[in-house]
Amino acid sequence: MPRLLLLATGGTIAGCAADSATLNDYTAGVFGGDALVAAVPQLQGLAAITVEQVANVDSADLLFAHWRALVRRIRAAFATNPELAGVVITHGTNTLEETAWLLQLLIDDRRPVVLVGAMRPATALSADGPLNLFQAVHVAVSPEARGQGVLVVMDGQIHGARDVTKVATQGVGAFASPGRGPLGWVDDVGVHLPMASGPRHVPFAGLDLPEQWPQVPIVYGCVEPEPIVLSACLNAGVAGLVFTGTGAGQLSAGECRVLEAWASPRPLMLRANRCGSGPVHLAEHDAQLGLLPAGVLNPQKARVLLSLAVMAGMDREQLLELLPITRL
Ligand code: ASP
Repeated sequence: MPRLLLLATGGTIAGCAADSATLNDYTAGVFGGDALVAAVPQLQGLAAITVEQVANVDSADLLFAHWRALVRRIRAAFATNPELAGVVITHGTNTLEETAWLLQLLIDDRRPVVLVGAMRPATALSADGPLNLFQAVHVAVSPEARGQGVLVVMDGQIHGARDVTKVATQGVGAFASPGRGPLGWVDDVGVHLPMASGPRHVPFAGLDLPEQWPQVPIVYGCVEPEPIVLSACLNAGVAGLVFTGTGAGQLSAGECRVLEAWASPRPLMLRANRCGSGPVHLAEHDAQLGLLPAGVLNPQKARVLLSLAVMAGMDREQLLELLPITRL
């Protein structure tokens, strides 16, 4: 029987509502990981599962300390346990994609790390958590998923950590990989990954996460943005900054003026976009303003990458090498 480590962090998959017909009004992170596993006896036919509770929170309340604990635990488990087939993390869906991308950049092992959540609380009629969990374990112990990096399993689909994002506030099919599609699916026949890619580079495999993380805010573009937001960030001395630009990552003229006028050294800054899909390319004025394009990364994932780059002491040129961009 393959061995699997399940790290529970909370979320709706562990959520509890007053009655089974209530889908929106519930408390996330109530049931422990042991209870989630016990609710799916079919898991006993898939793997010998060890459960550890890392947190039990709504994923909006996850902290960098939780991320640090997850990274350390997964690295230690892979380093010390050659028998371990893979890791599953139960997680709230709201920030699941950020944790998946963080781990993709930090965990260097061919064995699968699979994140899974649910859109309906565990107490709901037709709760989606039990089947999602069963399928996540199925994927995590499968030979097909080896070497494919960090994966997200939701609603029978298997997504890659870089492209997956939550695209709906409710409904069980709330995850997509815009512009690319899922890597595959899991069903009765097995684990299918027709879109999986080959070996990956893990840029921060050797990075030990500090207790104190750098400040990296996200600024959101809109009509007549308040320039004070950007000025406040620069004045606060943030270590990095992500713009959620309009269209293909565009800043307003006012925001460009704030950057031009900024005399002190600029923080590392990325331009992402608010469209939900599509790339942001390198632009002519980027160098002059101290900006870099986030490529296909959405703003929250751009922030994860930028935070790690700051922690690793990277400069603009080194960060540029890591960005998923197509040069025109
Ligand atoms: N509020 C939940 C969370 O922890 C949402 C979910 O898990 O679906 O992110």
